[in-house]
Amino acid sequence: MSESTVREKSQEQVKVCVQKQRAYFNEGHTKPLATRVRHLEKLLRLLREHKPQIIEALRQDLNKSETEVYLTEIGLLIEEIRFTMKHLERWAKPKKVKTVKTHIGSKGYRIPEPYGVTLVVSPWNYPIQLALAPLIGALAAGNTVILKPSELTPACSHLLATLINDHFEEGLLYVIEGGVDTSQYLLKERFDYIFFTGSVGVGKIVMEAASKYLTPVTLELGGKSPCIVHKDADLKLAAKRIAQGKLTNAGQTCIAPDYLLLHEDIKSDFIAEYKRIVTSFYGEQPLKNEAYAKVVNERHFQRVKSYLDDGRIIFGGQVDERLEKIEPTLIEPSSEEVPIMREEIFGPVLPVLTYRNIDEVIERVNGGEKPLALYLFTKSSEVEEQIVNNISYGGGCINDTLMHIATPYLPFGGVGESGMGAYHGESSFSTFSHYKSVLKQTTLFDFSFRYPNAKNGLAILKRLFG
Ligand code: NAD
Repeated sequence: MSESTVREKSQEQVKVCVQKQRAYFNEGHTKPLATRVRHLEKLLRLLREHKPQIIEALRQDLNKSETEVYLTEIGLLIEEIRFTMKHLERWAKPKKVKTVKTHIGSKGYRIPEPYGVTLVVSPWNYPIQLALAPLIGALAAGNTVILKPSELTPACSHLLATLINDHFEEGLLYVIEGGVDTSQYLLKERFDYIFFTGSVGVGKIVMEAASKYLTPVTLELGGKSPCIVHKDADLKLAAKRIAQGKLTNAGQTCIAPDYLLLHEDIKSDFIAEYKRIVTSFYGEQPLKNEAYAKVVNERHFQRVKSYLDDGRIIFGGQVDERLEKIEPTLIEPSSEEVPIMREEIFGPVLPVLTYRNIDEVIERVNGGEKPLALYLFTKSSEVEEQIVNNISYGGGCINDTLMHIATPYLPFGGVGESGMGAYHGESSFSTFSHYKSVLKQTTLFDFSFRYPNAKNGLAILKRLFG
């Protein structure tokens, strides 16, 4: 499959689609809770019934292994839909809130309502999961959705279009396949919410376009996520969990450890453990291992490959041009200025840096953009507190990698350049809901002090706020 197999749409086609959804939403079809649950059930059924097609599409686009597909694509979605269906009734109920003493007699409510017509634009690295996960929250909250999957994973894009467009009403949920042009046509239209997952650069384009109609956005972006291994860490376990976090999908994961910060004392022991575990995962020749993912396309393959020139290779470093695969690699960068230290790597190449004390680490990470993820391996709660309390980042794990994304109880999102807003579990529902604040006032009595002609009004106010 090549990139060109996803055809661009015209501005007119996009416009018609948005108009249909606007009409569908205005007619009130998305509002009843029972209907929303039915939509989620249908999504769940489609995922379950089409597992073989999903596995095949992901194999074609990224050579993902079946295990990876279950762990990082299908499994996550199934869990998220089940969780949402279980809790939706409670989340969707108006919430009664307290009032203040000046408002005695009144009741306050926060009433979640759908925004309306929403747009979801997704990337290629988890082309099924990152396209469908936002839909769960959007549909649960009662919105309509236009989904624009990535053109770089055409098999997954076609599959999503076929599955969804054959089974859902166009006014409710529709997949528009296309690339940059289609995405830009979509961004010219008026939406009530835009949910974008992708690169920082395109995130800025999306936000600029959204500002035209003051459309609220969630931006799920990327960046350089540090992985710190302190001297007291369990090195065997750390190496195993870091290798999994880095090498799943050949490092093409927004929250993959981007670079290592190893305490000087454990550097060589850690490297030995990493080599050992990677060999046990993928064998002596990972490039030949069927379960080891490829880089998505030629352009990204050449980009990641070029990082191999940015320092001294400690481990790995071989590539297969034909299969577009790059070995799990450890590299000591030649300086801070080389591209591998300035750009998001998004591949299986892991730079190794060292530190002497934790303050150095804090200063270093805080000197860059706020990361999407941060991982720390230590047994010391003091070190843990130092890092967690002094560095701002989207989210992360202590003594693990990636796993914080896989629980609906933890909102997932970035901060600063790594994004804005969060989703998963209840926060997916709240992201796609506007909470309308309503005060219901009593008519049984009326405080006169609030009115301009009130006798003693000012005196009462002074007492209240004295
Ligand atoms: P990308 O920004 O190139 O593309 C994402 C989407 O935007 C695609 O659907 C694409 O068609 C569209 N697009 C591309 N250029 C555009 C333009 N000029 N105008 C309008 N739309 C445009 O990102 P990608 O290469 O698909 O994904 C990799 C990036 O996404 C990495 O930076 C990664 O960290 C990030 N990412 C973040 C998360 C997260 O959850 N935070 C998850 C996965 C990936």
